[in-house]
Amino acid sequence: MTFSDEKNKIESGALYLVATPIGNLADMSERAKKVLSEVDFIAAEDTRNSGKLLNVFGIKKPMISYFEHNKYARGDEIIAKIKSGDSCALITDAGMPAISDPGEDIVKMCRESGIPVYVVPGPCAAVSALALSGLSTRKFVFEGFLSSKKSERRRELGKLSSETRTIIFYEAPHRLAETLTDMLDVLGDRKISICRELTKINEETVLTTLSDAVKYYASNEPRGEYVLVVEGASDDADDDGSFADMSIAEHVAHYESRGMSLGDAMKACARDRGVSKREIYAAVMKK
Ligand code: SAM
Repeated sequence: MTFSDEKNKIESGALYLVATPIGNLADMSERAKKVLSEVDFIAAEDTRNSGKLLNVFGIKKPMISYFEHNKYARGDEIIAKIKSGDSCALITDAGMPAISDPGEDIVKMCRESGIPVYVVPGPCAAVSALALSGLSTRKFVFEGFLSSKKSERRRELGKLSSETRTIIFYEAPHRLAETLTDMLDVLGDRKISICRELTKINEETVLTTLSDAVKYYASNEPRGEYVLVVEGASDDADDDGSFADMSIAEHVAHYESRGMSLGDAMKACARDRGVSKREIYAAVMKK
């Protein structure tokens, strides 16, 4: 571990991705405060929200708003300022920039323009929830927010139905009950860890099952911010050769019954059997 003055000097013409608390202000790191105090300007998802955060720490800096709907025009402006020698810190409303938050595009633009990008790591709701979940943390996938449209959401879940790694989702409270129902219908009953209001006064993590969660939220209103950590599919069915006992049509129907479109079901079937999708298509059409 190093605590080097050299490394902690702000470099001109560089972008710093600075993680901020996901609820508990005491999680603001010393380095985050130092970088935000010393850069030339701060790009923030919501300058009003970030203004409040910076006020708490007595930091005053010029801010530029950078969010989903102005990211292209603002991105060019920010890159031009950095190229002229300014140092910039990017922050979002909470947590790690670029993770279900603005940042991905500006980092890409910096990389393409040869601008150095550094990270000031810190809180991230997804990783915190995974670690707290009580589910396997050895291998996982992060899905962020599912679609707000029911049919699209079920299609997305269908694609995940044979995913054996632990799956992490973000979800808004007003959509939680519907999403849990879709998960139960498409993924089948499995363990889920529901993490709410992490690092805040009402922090709560409940390891339960999708069927019990659906029942619970049918009569209890969700409140606060949620991360859902869902157990991966058991890999017995896919890996132990049990598909060998099914015809191709049964194999495809098995995936369709778990919510996949015909196209995705054929793709999954082709992958399991190690054959081309064309071969599966031909067998299904012959049926
Ligand atoms: N970049 C952020 C991060 O690193 O965690 C995530 C931003 S995303 C727009 C916001 C979502 O993260 C929320 O809707 C919620 O699902 C999750 N989230 C953020 N803070 C949370 C908290 N304190 N407790 C639980 N979930 C949280």
